[in-house]
Amino acid sequence: MARDGPTSQFIEVKCNECGNEQTVFDKPAETVKCLVCDDVLLKAAGGRATIEGELLGRVDG
Ligand SMILES: [Zn+2]
Repeated sequence: MARDGPTSQFIEVKCNECGNEQTVFDKPAETVKCLVCDDVLLKAAGGRATIEGELLGRVDG
């Protein structure tokens, strides 16, 4: 289902250190860390974040 509206989205990122797959907001206000090993997954960049882990894909809906 196509939707206009918020451009914000969630993405699935895999941690480079431990392989944990985490769903994260792609425009976080702060750096996002892995819940398992505390490695950095996304670095806040004043808008769309810099992805430090492996991007697996977008999460729709
Ligand atoms: Zn990790």
